[in-house]
Amino acid sequence: MRLILLGPPGVGKGTQAKLLSNYFSIPTISTGDVLREAVKNQTSLGIQAKVKMDAGELVSDELVNHIVDEYIQTIDIAKGFILDGYPRNVMQAEYLEKALANLGAEINFVLDYQLDEGTLIKRLSGRRTCSNTNEILNIYYSPKEKIESCIKNGGELIQRDDDHEETIRNRLVVYRSETLPVSNYYLSNGKLIAVFSEKDVHSVFESTLKSLSR
Ligand code: AMP
Repeated sequence: MRLILLGPPGVGKGTQAKLLSNYFSIPTISTGDVLREAVKNQTSLGIQAKVKMDAGELVSDELVNHIVDEYIQTIDIAKGFILDGYPRNVMQAEYLEKALANLGAEINFVLDYQLDEGTLIKRLSGRRTCSNTNEILNIYYSPKEKIESCIKNGGELIQRDDDHEETIRNRLVVYRSETLPVSNYYLSNGKLIAVFSEKDVHSVFESTLKSLSR
């Protein structure tokens, strides 16, 4: 199963990608995670990407296409994979189609997660990572005990650099102008499946599996 997870920032693509990856026993790549790791390690990729990421803009197609190109050469294409956060514009979608065609493969389904903008902003602005456990928490939605236990055990609640309100708004603007057209790209070739993400993680996962089996 070769899947793309589309949708605005904060919709929960990363969480669903992990669940789907376990369920289907296929690997997943998040271009955002790869870029954040590169920034942390101050590699040349990270140094080139950081300014754009901090501003909530897209990193150049050349850089992200290269990441995905390298990735698909290393995995078992026939078995499948999940792409989270790529493609983010139509150029990347076209590039991916060619890269896969060269390997005799194509995308099977594109899951397009959707959620209202108010909830997205709350999810993103409240998102924190516990520095001890790396668990992703939310100051608005996570149980109080979880937040307190992170701090009690000496952990810090770390906010992603691009999860500050102004950057979030820009990421949503970029999503609307650059990434929404990608949904139409896949809609026109019959691969797009819309999934509504307002419920809890497990209900959204159930809806995802149901949509895939239709
Ligand atoms: P994400 O974790 O998917 O929200 O990505 C975080 C940031 O990484 C984005 O705001 C972009 O700056 C950059 N990024 C991730 N994936 C891509 C992509 N496919 N194309 C361009 N930039 C990307």
